[in-house]
Amino acid sequence: MRVSKMLTRTLKETPAEAETISHKLLLRAGMISQLVAGVYTYLPLAWRVLRKIEDIVRAEMDAAGGQELSMPVLQPLDLWQKSGRDVAFGKGLFNLTDRRERKLVLGPTHEEVITQLVSQNVRSYRDLPLMPYQMQTKFRDEPRARGGLLRGREFLMKDLYSFDADEAGLARSYDAMLQAYHHIYSRCGLPALAVEADSGAIGGKASHEFMVIAESGEDEIIRCNGCGYAANVEKAEAVKGEVSGGAPLLLEEVATPGAATIEEVSAFLKVPPQRTLKAVFYMADGQLVFAVIRGDLDVNEVKLKNNLRCTDLRMASEAEVNAAGIVAGAASPVKLSGVRVVADDSITSGTNFIAGGNRPETHLRNVNYPRDFSADIIADIARARAGQGCARCGGSLSAMRGIEVGHVFKLGTFLSEKLGAFFVDEKGESRPIIMGCYGIGLGRMLAAAIEQNHDDKGIIWPLPIAPYQVYLCPLYREGSAVAEVAEKIYNELTSAGVEVLFDDRVESPGVKFNDADLLGIPLRVTISPRTLDKNSAEMKWRRDKESSLAPLEGIAGRGKGLINERMAGAQV
Ligand code: ATP
Ligand code: MG
Repeated sequence: MRVSKMLTRTLKETPAEAETISHKLLLRAGMISQLVAGVYTYLPLAWRVLRKIEDIVRAEMDAAGGQELSMPVLQPLDLWQKSGRDVAFGKGLFNLTDRRERKLVLGPTHEEVITQLVSQNVRSYRDLPLMPYQMQTKFRDEPRARGGLLRGREFLMKDLYSFDADEAGLARSYDAMLQAYHHIYSRCGLPALAVEADSGAIGGKASHEFMVIAESGEDEIIRCNGCGYAANVEKAEAVKGEVSGGAPLLLEEVATPGAATIEEVSAFLKVPPQRTLKAVFYMADGQLVFAVIRGDLDVNEVKLKNNLRCTDLRMASEAEVNAAGIVAGAASPVKLSGVRVVADDSITSGTNFIAGGNRPETHLRNVNYPRDFSADIIADIARARAGQGCARCGGSLSAMRGIEVGHVFKLGTFLSEKLGAFFVDEKGESRPIIMGCYGIGLGRMLAAAIEQNHDDKGIIWPLPIAPYQVYLCPLYREGSAVAEVAEKIYNELTSAGVEVLFDDRVESPGVKFNDADLLGIPLRVTISPRTLDKNSAEMKWRRDKESSLAPLEGIAGRGKGLINERMAGAQV
C-alpha cells in the first residue's frame, strides 16, 4: 500500500476530546473517526488490524469446535421481554419502531436470538453439544461511552454460545473456550490474565474475565503474589484477620462529641478502626438496608447486591436513613427493628466492638455479635484490597488495573427455560439445554493493544496484528536514484509476501519518521542517498532503539526472515 494513496491523514495535535492513550493515538494516526458519540469509522489501517485479530479469533474458535454463522442486528423486543432481559438492559437497549408499529431493538448481545434458533433445531441429546459463534456489531447505549474503541455504543464482538446436555458437557465447553482464549491473546501478542469474575445473583456458576493489564483500565484486579489467584475486585476474597477484644464485657454508652466517621470515632476513643463497626445504608429495590462491616473494611456493592438478590441497589440518602428513625453518624445495629440488616462476616472476627449508639454523638462500647444484635444475612460483603492475605494460600494480595477484553460465563439453564430450548435425553425425558456464553471485544482488543504498546512518539503494534509489517521509508527528492531503488524493493518485499506500507511521498525525513513512529509499523526500512552509497538499507524495529544496515542484495528474503523470527519468538 502506498501512503500517498491511503485514505488516512495523521494529525500533529491531539484532539481535545480524547482521554485515553489509545483514543488519542488512533485519532492522531488517522485510524478511526468519530461519527457521533461512541460510534466510529475504522479507516483502512485500523480495519486491517481488526481483520487480523478476527482471523486469529476465528482460527481458534474453529479449532475449539465452534461453527460460524451470522445473526441479525435487528431483533424483536418481545423476544427480550420473553427472557426478561429487556428490564436488565434497561436504557442500554437501543429501541426503534417499524412502520407497522412493531417494537424492535438493536442487539446488544445475542443469547436470545441464538437460544430461539437452537430451540428450533435441537431435538435430542444427539444434536448436542453445539458451539455457534459470530463476529458482529453490537449496540449498547452505554451511560459513559469513553476511550474511543474501549467503550463504544456500536462495537464489534466475537460471541460464541455453548449448548450442552449436562454439566460435564458445559465444563468441557467452558474449558475448551478458556484454552482457546489463552491462545488468542498470546497469538495476538497481547498477554491477558484470566481472572475470576462476578457472575451475578442468577445463574451464578462460573465466570472469568480476560484482562489486559493497563493503568487506564476501568477494572480493578486483585492478585495473589503467592498462588496466582486473580479476581476482579467485584468478586475477590481476602483474609480479614482476627481482632483480639478479650472476653465479652458489659455494653456501655459513651459520649463521642463531634465524632461521626470511623476515623473520628476511633481517634476520639483511641481504638483502631478494626475495633469498630461501620454502618452503611443502601436502598435495595426501594427498601432500606442496613449494612454492618468492621470499621477498617469497605462494602463491596456487587457482593451485597448478590446477597440481597435485588436488581437495583444504591446508597440511601440521609433523609431516607432518618425516615427509618436511625441517627446517621451514630447508627447502630443494636436494638434496631424494622430494617433489614446485612452483616459482613468480619463482625464475628472479634469482640467488644465500638458501634453507634443511635443517639447523636453517642456510641456503644463492648458490642458483641450475636449477644447484642442480629443480622438477616451474614456473608462476605467486603471489598478486598492490596496488602490483605490471600484466602487460598495466605500469600500477599496486590491490586492492579485492567481492561476487560473477554468474558466467559457459565449461564446454566435460565435462558433455555425461559425461551423453551429443551432436548430429550437418553431416558426420553425433556430437559433444558445447559448454556454458556463467551465474548471477546474485538475493537476493545485493538485499543488495549495500544494501551499496552506505545511510547511518547506513537503506537508500537505487536507484530501479529500490525496493519503492515514493514514501513518502507525512502528519503529522496523527486527523480533521485533512491526513488527507483525503493520501487524495486517495494515490489520485491511484496512479492516475498511481506506486508509493506510504502511511504512514497516527497516529504522531509522528519515528517516521514514521525509518521512512521506514530503509525507504529514494526519494521522500518529506510533508503537514503547515504545508505545507497553503501548499497544497503537501514533496518530499525519500532520497539528497539538501535538500527542496522542490511545489504540491498537479498533484502526481501532477509526482511521476511527477520519478521518470521520475531513472529515465532516470544518478543513481538
Ligand atoms: P463491561 O463490563 O466492560 O461493560 P460487559 O460485561 O458488559 O463489559 P460483555 O457483555 O460480557 O461485556 O461483552 C463481552 C465483551 O465485549 C467484553 O469482555 C468487552 O471486551 C466487550 N465490550 C463490552 N461492552 C463494550 C463496549 N461498550 N465497547 C467495546 N467493547 C465492549
Ligand atoms: Mg457493559
